[in-house]
Amino acid sequence: MKLSEMLIRKLEFASSTETSQTVKPSPSGLHTNWAWRPLRPNQVNHSTSESLALLQVGLRLNYPIWQLLTFLSERLLNIETIITPSITNVEEAFDSRRRQYHSTRIIVILENHPNLSRLDRKLGVTCLDLYNPGRDGHGFIFGEARSPGPSGVVSTFRLTSSQPSLFNSRVKKEVVHELGHMLGLEHCADSQCVMHQSEIASDIDTKSDDYCNRCRRNMGKFGS
Ligand SMILES: [Zn+2]
Ligand SMILES: [Zn+2]
Repeated sequence: MKLSEMLIRKLEFASSTETSQTVKPSPSGLHTNWAWRPLRPNQVNHSTSESLALLQVGLRLNYPIWQLLTFLSERLLNIETIITPSITNVEEAFDSRRRQYHSTRIIVILENHPNLSRLDRKLGVTCLDLYNPGRDGHGFIFGEARSPGPSGVVSTFRLTSSQPSLFNSRVKKEVVHELGHMLGLEHCADSQCVMHQSEIASDIDTKSDDYCNRCRRNMGKFGS
C-alpha cells in the first residue's frame, strides 16, 4: 500500500461517526484497549502543530500529490500534512466564456466542504486552468491563497514542460509559494526565495524551492 493510500484511509477512519473508545476487561482481569483509534486530523503530536490537508481538485491530476508530503515536511515546522480524498466536482467555478476556473470560487468550495472542516488548513492541487479577474495579467494564474488564511489552490495547467523534472520542481515551488501566503508571507524581493513573484513558468525555474531566512523569520513557528 502506498503511503498516500494509508493516509487517505487514516482520514476516512477519522471521519467516521464513532466517537467513543471501548475499554473492556480482558479474561485475565487486565484492561485492554480493544478499539484501535487512528490519529484524527486535528489531533496532532505537538500542541503548537497545525493540520494541513493536501487534496486533488477536479476529476484528474497529472502530478503524484503524495510526493509533496516529504517535501513539505522538510520545509515547514509544526505542520502535520495529510492527503485527503479528492473533490472532483468544481463545475460551479467554471466560466464557460473563458473556459477557465475561477480560483476564489474553488477556494470557497474547499472552505465549505464538510470533510475538511476539522482541518486547520487545506490546499487543493488541480490540473484545471485557473483565472482571477484583476490578478491575471497574463490571462491565467498559477494559484491563489488566503493570506494569511486557511486555504489555497495551485494549478499545474501552466507548469508543464517537456522535461518531467522541471514540471515536478515547478509544482513543488508553487505549492510551497501558496502555502507561504497562507502562513502570512507576502512576495519577497529576493530572486532566489520561493516567495519571489513569478509571472510566467520560466520565472519559477530561476528561484529556489525554499524560503529565504527573512521569510522564515516572518513565518514564526512554521519557519524557525
Ligand atoms: Zn504569490
Ligand atoms: Zn523571502
